[in-house]
Amino acid sequence: MTLAKAYAVSSPTAAFAPFQVERRAVGAHDVQIEIAFCGICHSDIHQVRDEWGGSKYPMVPGHEIVGRVTAVGAHVTKFQIGDLAGVGCMVDSCRTCPSCERQLEQFCQKGSAFTYNGTEMDRKTPTYGGYSSSVVVDEAFSLKVSPKLDLAAVAPLLCAGITTYSPLRRFKTKAGDKVGVVGLGGLGHMAVKLAAAMGAEVTMLSTSPSKEADARSLGAHHFGLTSDPATFKTLAGSFDLIIDTISAPHDYNKYLGLLRLEGAMVLLGVPPEPTPVAAGSLIFGHKVLTGSLIGGIAETQEMLDFCAEHGIVSDIELIPVQQVDQAYDRMLKNDVRYRFVLDMKTL
Ligand code: NAP
Ligand code: ZN
Ligand code: ZN
Repeated sequence: MTLAKAYAVSSPTAAFAPFQVERRAVGAHDVQIEIAFCGICHSDIHQVRDEWGGSKYPMVPGHEIVGRVTAVGAHVTKFQIGDLAGVGCMVDSCRTCPSCERQLEQFCQKGSAFTYNGTEMDRKTPTYGGYSSSVVVDEAFSLKVSPKLDLAAVAPLLCAGITTYSPLRRFKTKAGDKVGVVGLGGLGHMAVKLAAAMGAEVTMLSTSPSKEADARSLGAHHFGLTSDPATFKTLAGSFDLIIDTISAPHDYNKYLGLLRLEGAMVLLGVPPEPTPVAAGSLIFGHKVLTGSLIGGIAETQEMLDFCAEHGIVSDIELIPVQQVDQAYDRMLKNDVRYRFVLDMKTL
Protein backbone atom coordinates (compact mmCIF):
# COMPACT_ATOMS: atom_id res chain seq x y z
CA MET A 1 0.00 0.00 0.00
CA THR A 2 1.20 3.52 -0.77
CA LEU A 3 -0.30 6.89 0.03
CA ALA A 4 -0.97 9.07 -3.00
CA LYS A 5 -1.64 12.78 -2.99
CA ALA A 6 -5.01 13.75 -4.41
CA TYR A 7 -7.65 16.46 -4.72
CA ALA A 8 -11.09 15.54 -3.45
CA VAL A 9 -14.53 16.93 -2.70
CA SER A 10 -16.34 15.93 0.49
CA SER A 11 -19.89 16.80 -0.62
CA PRO A 12 -21.79 18.00 -3.73
CA THR A 13 -21.33 21.63 -2.67
CA ALA A 14 -17.79 21.53 -1.24
CA ALA A 15 -14.77 23.05 -2.94
CA PHE A 16 -11.84 20.77 -3.83
CA ALA A 17 -9.23 20.27 -1.11
CA PRO A 18 -6.03 18.23 -0.75
CA PHE A 19 -6.64 14.61 0.24
CA GLN A 20 -4.66 11.39 0.54
CA VAL A 21 -5.72 8.08 -0.99
CA GLU A 22 -4.40 4.61 -0.29
CA ARG A 23 -3.26 2.85 -3.46
CA ARG A 24 -2.97 -0.92 -3.16
CA ALA A 25 0.36 -2.73 -3.24
CA VAL A 26 1.34 -3.60 -6.81
CA GLY A 27 -0.12 -7.06 -7.49
CA ALA A 28 1.22 -9.61 -9.97
CA HIS A 29 -0.86 -8.19 -12.85
CA ASP A 30 -0.75 -4.53 -11.80
CA VAL A 31 1.09 -1.49 -13.02
CA GLN A 32 1.75 1.53 -10.85
CA ILE A 33 1.48 4.76 -12.81
CA GLU A 34 2.85 8.13 -11.76
CA ILE A 35 0.14 10.41 -13.10
CA ALA A 36 1.48 13.27 -15.22
CA PHE A 37 -1.80 14.74 -16.49
CA CYS A 38 -5.52 14.24 -16.00
CA GLY A 39 -8.26 15.75 -18.17
CA ILE A 40 -11.46 17.28 -16.75
CA CYS A 41 -14.58 15.68 -18.26
CA HIS A 42 -18.05 17.15 -17.84
CA SER A 43 -18.97 13.79 -16.24
CA ASP A 44 -16.64 14.79 -13.39
CA ILE A 45 -18.85 17.83 -12.76
CA HIS A 46 -22.10 15.81 -12.99
CA GLN A 47 -20.76 13.32 -10.41
CA VAL A 48 -19.04 15.80 -8.08
CA ARG A 49 -22.33 17.73 -7.88
CA ASP A 50 -24.35 14.49 -7.60
CA GLU A 51 -26.45 15.36 -10.65
CA TRP A 52 -26.94 11.68 -11.55
CA GLY A 53 -27.65 10.54 -7.97
CA GLY A 54 -25.74 8.06 -5.80
CA SER A 55 -22.42 9.93 -5.70
CA LYS A 56 -19.97 8.72 -3.03
CA TYR A 57 -17.77 11.06 -0.96
CA PRO A 58 -14.99 11.82 -0.49
CA MET A 59 -14.66 11.75 -4.29
CA VAL A 60 -11.43 12.03 -6.26
CA PRO A 61 -12.63 12.41 -9.86
CA GLY A 62 -10.61 11.97 -13.06
CA HIS A 63 -10.81 9.35 -15.78
CA GLU A 64 -8.56 10.85 -18.43
CA ILE A 65 -5.27 9.71 -16.94
CA VAL A 66 -1.81 9.56 -18.51
CA GLY A 67 1.57 9.07 -16.93
CA ARG A 68 4.62 6.88 -16.62
CA VAL A 69 4.88 3.35 -15.24
CA THR A 70 6.92 3.29 -12.02
CA ALA A 71 6.43 -0.35 -10.97
CA VAL A 72 5.14 -3.55 -12.58
CA GLY A 73 3.92 -6.81 -11.07
CA ALA A 74 5.68 -10.12 -11.66
CA HIS A 75 3.26 -11.28 -14.38
CA VAL A 76 2.96 -8.01 -16.30
CA THR A 77 3.88 -8.39 -19.97
CA LYS A 78 2.51 -5.27 -21.68
CA PHE A 79 4.49 -2.62 -19.75
CA GLN A 80 7.98 -1.97 -18.46
CA ILE A 81 9.06 0.60 -15.91
CA GLY A 82 9.39 3.95 -17.69
CA ASP A 83 6.70 3.26 -20.33
CA LEU A 84 3.90 5.72 -20.91
CA ALA A 85 0.45 4.46 -19.91
CA GLY A 86 -3.12 5.67 -19.85
CA VAL A 87 -6.23 4.82 -17.82
CA GLY A 88 -9.76 5.73 -18.86
CA CYS A 89 -13.17 5.30 -17.25
CA MET A 90 -12.76 1.68 -16.08
CA VAL A 91 -10.20 -0.12 -13.94
CA ASP A 92 -11.68 -3.64 -13.95
CA SER A 93 -14.61 -5.87 -14.92
CA CYS A 94 -15.52 -9.54 -14.41
CA ARG A 95 -13.89 -10.48 -17.76
CA THR A 96 -16.09 -13.57 -18.24
CA CYS A 97 -19.68 -12.39 -18.79
CA PRO A 98 -21.11 -12.09 -22.34
CA SER A 99 -20.45 -8.32 -22.42
CA CYS A 100 -16.84 -8.73 -21.31
CA GLU A 101 -16.37 -11.54 -23.83
CA ARG A 102 -17.56 -9.16 -26.53
CA GLN A 103 -14.94 -6.63 -25.31
CA LEU A 104 -17.69 -4.31 -24.10
CA GLU A 105 -16.40 -4.22 -20.52
CA GLN A 106 -18.30 -0.99 -19.89
CA PHE A 107 -21.46 -3.15 -19.85
CA CYS A 108 -20.05 -5.90 -17.62
CA GLN A 109 -23.08 -7.74 -16.29
CA LYS A 110 -21.55 -7.88 -12.82
CA GLY A 111 -20.98 -4.12 -13.01
CA SER A 112 -17.72 -2.61 -14.26
CA ALA A 113 -15.30 -1.14 -11.75
CA PHE A 114 -15.36 2.51 -12.78
CA THR A 115 -12.23 4.56 -12.18
CA TYR A 116 -13.82 6.73 -9.48
CA ASN A 117 -17.11 7.10 -7.61
CA GLY A 118 -17.36 3.30 -7.69
CA THR A 119 -15.73 0.24 -6.18
CA GLU A 120 -13.28 -2.41 -7.22
CA MET A 121 -14.84 -5.75 -8.22
CA ASP A 122 -14.88 -6.76 -4.52
CA ARG A 123 -17.71 -4.16 -4.26
CA LYS A 124 -16.09 -2.84 -1.11
CA THR A 125 -12.90 -0.97 -1.95
CA PRO A 126 -13.76 2.51 -3.20
CA THR A 127 -12.12 3.69 -6.41
CA TYR A 128 -10.40 7.07 -6.58
CA GLY A 129 -9.61 8.72 -9.88
CA GLY A 130 -6.88 10.64 -11.57
CA TYR A 131 -6.81 14.00 -9.73
CA SER A 132 -3.99 12.28 -7.92
CA SER A 133 -0.25 11.66 -7.99
CA SER A 134 -0.40 7.93 -8.75
CA VAL A 135 -2.68 4.97 -9.38
CA VAL A 136 -2.36 1.17 -9.38
CA VAL A 137 -4.32 -0.58 -12.15
CA ASP A 138 -4.42 -4.07 -13.64
CA GLU A 139 -2.43 -4.04 -16.87
CA ALA A 140 -5.52 -5.36 -18.69
CA PHE A 141 -7.20 -2.00 -18.04
CA SER A 142 -4.10 0.11 -18.77
CA LEU A 143 -3.53 1.49 -22.26
CA LYS A 144 -0.35 1.91 -24.26
CA VAL A 145 0.34 5.56 -25.15
CA SER A 146 2.51 6.62 -28.08
CA PRO A 147 5.53 8.78 -27.20
CA LYS A 148 5.00 10.58 -30.54
CA LEU A 149 2.10 12.68 -29.22
CA ASP A 150 2.04 15.56 -26.70
CA LEU A 151 1.30 13.66 -23.49
CA ALA A 152 -0.85 16.34 -21.82
CA ALA A 153 -3.02 16.57 -24.94
CA VAL A 154 -3.38 12.76 -25.07
CA ALA A 155 -5.10 12.64 -21.65
CA PRO A 156 -8.59 13.64 -22.94
CA LEU A 157 -8.47 10.84 -25.51
CA LEU A 158 -9.02 8.38 -22.62
CA CYS A 159 -12.63 9.53 -22.30
CA ALA A 160 -13.57 12.26 -24.83
CA GLY A 161 -11.61 10.43 -27.54
CA ILE A 162 -13.00 6.93 -27.08
CA THR A 163 -16.55 8.15 -26.39
CA THR A 164 -16.71 9.83 -29.79
CA TYR A 165 -14.58 7.28 -31.70
CA SER A 166 -16.75 4.33 -30.67
CA PRO A 167 -20.08 5.47 -32.21
CA LEU A 168 -18.31 6.73 -35.35
CA ARG A 169 -16.93 3.19 -35.80
CA ARG A 170 -20.22 1.51 -34.82
CA PHE A 171 -21.95 3.43 -37.62
CA LYS A 172 -19.06 2.67 -39.99
CA THR A 173 -18.23 6.29 -40.73
CA LYS A 174 -16.41 6.56 -44.04
CA ALA A 175 -15.33 9.06 -46.67
CA GLY A 176 -18.23 11.20 -47.84
CA ASP A 177 -20.61 10.43 -44.96
CA LYS A 178 -22.39 13.50 -43.67
CA VAL A 179 -21.85 13.73 -39.92
CA GLY A 180 -23.34 16.41 -37.65
CA VAL A 181 -21.67 17.05 -34.30
CA VAL A 182 -23.85 18.80 -31.70
CA GLY A 183 -22.08 20.83 -29.00
CA LEU A 184 -18.50 22.02 -29.32
CA GLY A 185 -16.91 21.13 -25.97
CA GLY A 186 -14.50 18.39 -24.93
CA LEU A 187 -16.39 15.55 -26.60
CA GLY A 188 -17.58 17.65 -29.54
CA HIS A 189 -14.14 18.83 -30.59
CA MET A 190 -12.85 15.24 -30.56
CA ALA A 191 -15.86 14.10 -32.60
CA VAL A 192 -15.06 16.75 -35.23
CA LYS A 193 -11.39 15.75 -35.43
CA LEU A 194 -12.07 12.01 -35.54
CA ALA A 195 -14.96 12.17 -38.03
CA ALA A 196 -12.89 14.44 -40.32
CA ALA A 197 -9.94 12.01 -40.07
CA MET A 198 -12.29 9.20 -41.16
CA GLY A 199 -13.13 11.25 -44.27
CA ALA A 200 -16.61 12.41 -43.27
CA GLU A 201 -18.11 15.75 -44.31
CA VAL A 202 -18.57 17.30 -40.87
CA THR A 203 -21.03 19.97 -39.80
CA MET A 204 -20.64 21.57 -36.38
CA LEU A 205 -24.02 22.33 -34.79
CA SER A 206 -23.43 24.81 -31.98
CA THR A 207 -25.17 27.41 -29.85
CA SER A 208 -22.00 29.54 -29.88
CA PRO A 209 -21.37 31.75 -32.93
CA SER A 210 -17.94 32.57 -31.46
CA LYS A 211 -16.85 28.96 -32.03
CA GLU A 212 -17.33 28.91 -35.82
CA ALA A 213 -13.72 29.67 -36.75
CA ASP A 214 -12.45 27.09 -34.25
CA ALA A 215 -14.88 24.47 -35.56
CA ARG A 216 -13.52 24.95 -39.05
CA SER A 217 -9.89 24.78 -37.94
CA LEU A 218 -10.66 21.58 -36.01
CA GLY A 219 -11.83 20.06 -39.30
CA ALA A 220 -15.53 20.92 -39.67
CA HIS A 221 -16.55 21.71 -43.24
CA HIS A 222 -19.75 23.55 -42.26
CA PHE A 223 -21.16 25.34 -39.25
CA GLY A 224 -24.83 25.55 -38.20
CA LEU A 225 -25.93 27.96 -35.48
CA THR A 226 -28.59 26.10 -33.49
CA SER A 227 -29.95 29.23 -31.78
CA ASP A 228 -31.18 30.27 -35.27
CA PRO A 229 -34.39 28.38 -36.19
CA ALA A 230 -33.51 28.75 -39.90
CA THR A 231 -30.63 26.27 -39.40
CA PHE A 232 -33.14 23.48 -38.73
CA LYS A 233 -34.93 24.26 -42.03
CA THR A 234 -31.80 24.59 -44.15
CA LEU A 235 -30.23 21.39 -42.86
CA ALA A 236 -33.42 19.25 -42.62
CA GLY A 237 -32.84 15.68 -43.85
CA SER A 238 -29.06 16.17 -44.28
CA PHE A 239 -27.14 13.84 -42.00
CA ASP A 240 -26.26 10.15 -42.03
CA LEU A 241 -25.17 10.40 -38.41
CA ILE A 242 -25.53 12.96 -35.63
CA ILE A 243 -23.30 12.80 -32.55
CA ASP A 244 -25.01 14.73 -29.72
CA THR A 245 -22.66 15.81 -26.92
CA ILE A 246 -24.80 18.44 -25.14
CA SER A 247 -24.56 18.18 -21.35
CA ALA A 248 -27.83 20.04 -20.59
CA PRO A 249 -31.48 19.24 -21.40
CA HIS A 250 -32.46 20.09 -25.02
CA ASP A 251 -35.04 19.10 -27.60
CA TYR A 252 -33.91 15.90 -29.37
CA ASN A 253 -36.87 16.10 -31.78
CA LYS A 254 -35.42 19.17 -33.52
CA TYR A 255 -32.16 17.36 -34.22
CA LEU A 256 -33.88 14.14 -35.37
CA GLY A 257 -35.42 16.28 -38.13
CA LEU A 258 -31.91 16.85 -39.49
CA LEU A 259 -31.37 13.13 -40.22
CA ARG A 260 -31.79 11.67 -43.70
CA LEU A 261 -34.00 8.61 -44.27
CA GLU A 262 -32.78 5.87 -41.86
CA GLY A 263 -30.16 8.17 -40.38
CA ALA A 264 -29.04 7.73 -36.76
CA MET A 265 -28.55 10.10 -33.85
CA VAL A 266 -26.29 8.97 -31.00
CA LEU A 267 -26.71 10.53 -27.57
CA LEU A 268 -23.46 10.96 -25.67
CA GLY A 269 -24.35 13.84 -23.34
CA VAL A 270 -26.11 12.84 -20.12
CA PRO A 271 -28.36 15.75 -19.06
CA PRO A 272 -29.63 15.31 -15.49
CA GLU A 273 -33.31 15.51 -16.54
CA PRO A 274 -35.13 13.46 -19.21
CA THR A 275 -36.49 15.01 -22.42
CA PRO A 276 -39.61 13.75 -24.28
CA VAL A 277 -39.19 12.23 -27.74
CA ALA A 278 -42.25 12.23 -30.04
CA ALA A 279 -42.86 8.92 -31.81
CA GLY A 280 -43.33 10.83 -35.06
CA SER A 281 -39.77 12.15 -34.87
CA LEU A 282 -38.60 8.54 -35.38
CA ILE A 283 -41.47 7.04 -37.40
CA PHE A 284 -41.25 9.46 -40.29
CA GLY A 285 -38.06 8.42 -42.02
CA HIS A 286 -37.21 5.28 -40.00
CA LYS A 287 -34.88 7.36 -37.84
CA VAL A 288 -32.67 5.70 -35.25
CA LEU A 289 -32.12 7.23 -31.81
CA THR A 290 -29.48 5.48 -29.75
CA GLY A 291 -26.81 6.14 -27.17
CA SER A 292 -23.22 5.15 -26.58
CA LEU A 293 -21.15 4.66 -23.42
CA ILE A 294 -17.38 5.23 -23.66
CA GLY A 295 -15.88 2.13 -25.37
CA GLY A 296 -14.28 -1.20 -24.48
CA ILE A 297 -10.60 -1.53 -23.64
CA ALA A 298 -9.55 -3.04 -27.00
CA GLU A 299 -11.39 -0.28 -28.86
CA THR A 300 -9.79 2.35 -26.62
CA GLN A 301 -6.36 1.01 -27.63
CA GLU A 302 -7.46 1.02 -31.30
CA MET A 303 -8.52 4.69 -30.89
CA LEU A 304 -5.18 5.65 -29.29
CA ASP A 305 -3.31 3.93 -32.13
CA PHE A 306 -5.55 5.67 -34.71
CA CYS A 307 -4.79 9.04 -33.06
CA ALA A 308 -1.04 8.33 -33.04
CA GLU A 309 -1.18 7.41 -36.74
CA HIS A 310 -3.16 10.54 -37.66
CA GLY A 311 -1.44 12.91 -35.22
CA ILE A 312 -4.68 13.61 -33.38
CA VAL A 313 -4.71 15.00 -29.84
CA SER A 314 -7.06 17.21 -27.85
CA ASP A 315 -6.87 21.02 -27.83
CA ILE A 316 -6.18 21.73 -24.19
CA GLU A 317 -5.73 24.38 -21.56
CA LEU A 318 -3.18 23.05 -19.04
CA ILE A 319 -3.89 24.27 -15.51
CA PRO A 320 -2.54 23.68 -12.00
CA VAL A 321 -4.66 21.38 -9.86
CA GLN A 322 -5.43 24.26 -7.48
CA GLN A 323 -7.58 25.82 -10.26
CA VAL A 324 -9.96 22.89 -10.62
CA ASP A 325 -12.94 24.70 -9.04
CA GLN A 326 -12.49 27.66 -11.41
CA ALA A 327 -12.20 25.25 -14.34
CA TYR A 328 -15.56 23.68 -13.41
CA ASP A 329 -17.17 27.14 -13.21
CA ARG A 330 -15.72 28.07 -16.60
CA MET A 331 -16.96 24.82 -18.19
CA LEU A 332 -20.45 25.55 -16.87
CA LYS A 333 -20.22 29.00 -18.47
CA ASN A 334 -19.24 27.32 -21.75
CA ASP A 335 -15.77 28.85 -21.49
CA VAL A 336 -13.37 26.02 -22.36
CA ARG A 337 -11.31 25.66 -25.54
CA TYR A 338 -11.70 22.65 -25.54
CA ARG A 339 -10.51 20.57 -22.59
CA PHE A 340 -8.96 21.49 -19.27
CA VAL A 341 -6.09 19.23 -18.28
CA LEU A 342 -4.63 19.20 -14.77
CA ASP A 343 -0.84 19.28 -14.51
CA MET A 344 -0.21 16.80 -11.71
CA LYS A 345 3.26 18.02 -10.90
CA THR A 346 1.49 21.00 -9.28
CA LEU A 347 -0.16 18.68 -6.73
P1 NAP B 1 -18.35 20.24 -22.25
O1 NAP B 1 -16.92 20.31 -22.61
O2 NAP B 1 -18.88 21.07 -21.14
O3 NAP B 1 -19.18 20.53 -23.61
C1 NAP B 1 -20.58 20.51 -23.68
C2 NAP B 1 -21.02 21.38 -24.87
O4 NAP B 1 -22.44 21.29 -24.97
C3 NAP B 1 -20.73 22.85 -24.70
O5 NAP B 1 -19.45 23.19 -25.16
C4 NAP B 1 -21.81 23.51 -25.55
O6 NAP B 1 -21.43 23.53 -26.93
C5 NAP B 1 -22.97 22.54 -25.40
N1 NAP B 1 -23.92 22.99 -24.39
C6 NAP B 1 -23.71 23.14 -23.06
N2 NAP B 1 -24.82 23.56 -22.43
C7 NAP B 1 -25.76 23.67 -23.38
C8 NAP B 1 -27.13 24.06 -23.37
N3 NAP B 1 -27.74 24.43 -22.23
N4 NAP B 1 -27.80 24.04 -24.55
C9 NAP B 1 -27.19 23.68 -25.68
N5 NAP B 1 -25.89 23.34 -25.76
C10 NAP B 1 -25.19 23.32 -24.62
O7 NAP B 1 -18.75 18.74 -21.87
P2 NAP B 1 -18.08 17.32 -22.34
O8 NAP B 1 -17.01 16.97 -21.39
O9 NAP B 1 -17.84 17.35 -23.79
O10 NAP B 1 -19.29 16.33 -21.99
C11 NAP B 1 -20.54 16.46 -22.67
C12 NAP B 1 -21.57 15.50 -22.09
O11 NAP B 1 -21.18 14.16 -22.42
C13 NAP B 1 -21.69 15.53 -20.56
O12 NAP B 1 -23.07 15.35 -20.23
C14 NAP B 1 -20.89 14.32 -20.12
O13 NAP B 1 -21.31 13.79 -18.88
C15 NAP B 1 -21.21 13.36 -21.24
N6 NAP B 1 -20.26 12.25 -21.41
C16 NAP B 1 -20.78 11.07 -21.80
C17 NAP B 1 -19.96 9.99 -22.05
C18 NAP B 1 -20.53 8.70 -22.56
O14 NAP B 1 -19.85 7.68 -22.47
N7 NAP B 1 -21.71 8.72 -23.10
C19 NAP B 1 -18.56 10.13 -21.86
C20 NAP B 1 -18.06 11.37 -21.47
C21 NAP B 1 -18.92 12.43 -21.24
P3 NAP B 1 -21.78 24.77 -27.94
O15 NAP B 1 -21.20 26.00 -27.30
O16 NAP B 1 -21.09 24.38 -29.19
O17 NAP B 1 -23.26 24.82 -28.09
ZN1 ZN C 1 -15.54 11.35 -19.23
ZN1 ZN D 1 -18.27 -8.87 -17.16
